Amino acid sequence: MSISTLQDFENFIEIFPNIYRATFNLQFGPLHWPVSIFLINVEPSNNIWILIDTADPDNISKFFTALTQHFLKFPNYQLKYILLTHDHFDHTGSILRLLDEYKDIKLVLGEPESFHTNNKNVNGNTHTQQLATVEGKITVDKNRIVMIKREKEEEFEFFNVLKPIFIADHTLEFVSNNIGSISYLHIPTNCIMVGDSLMNLSTSQCSEPVISLPFTSTPSHLNSVKESIKNIARLDVKIVFPAHDHSQKGLSINDVRAFANTLKT
Ligand SMILES: [Zn+2]
Repeated sequence: MSISTLQDFENFIEIFPNIYRATFNLQFGPLHWPVSIFLINVEPSNNIWILIDTADPDNISKFFTALTQHFLKFPNYQLKYILLTHDHFDHTGSILRLLDEYKDIKLVLGEPESFHTNNKNVNGNTHTQQLATVEGKITVDKNRIVMIKREKEEEFEFFNVLKPIFIADHTLEFVSNNIGSISYLHIPTNCIMVGDSLMNLSTSQCSEPVISLPFTSTPSHLNSVKESIKNIARLDVKIVFPAHDHSQKGLSINDVRAFANTLKT
């Protein structure tokens, strides 16, 4: 299935009430994958918005075009936070430009990423390494970072609308694809954005997308990934949205549970 046939291709579409999604074509070697950005209207009465993920570096300008187009319909909007499901390059590409263009926006990270951003000079690995690779050496002002801590998720300002859930331990040492560090549950619709915890892709053999595991690098990493999917399957949610998804409607929790039941750890 071609990514460009998705209704939300390079364009924010309301896929559930107050959840908007735009999907971009991620080219990574021979791969062409959909990569989605979610835009949540967390407080419609006050026109307050939150982004979940920021696409890959090759799609920055297309993402900003989509964002500008979208907000033409919402004058006087406030874009308050950038949330990250995890720290890979294909989800973090636009962070620097967003911080630059939106002077009040803050970057929200899960505790595992805090190590990198506590330093004035950001030169760690994973998220920051990838940012540095793209942009050269960069600095993220500590005042513009909000840390989500385990067991203290309720400190997040919009916890009652967009609840952060640590699905499994984040394994920083893996440069290849990994588990979602934080998932975000949209309470009003009971939909959860799970990053790369699992994927829903069509293949050359099969045009209908199928659920698959993300890439893993070691047997223990593979086990963490399976554990995170089992954790998602235990949640009392309705729809699961992977960041790489060839469908418009996400996955029903029953499909995720059926997939989780096939996984042996
Ligand atoms: Zn990804």
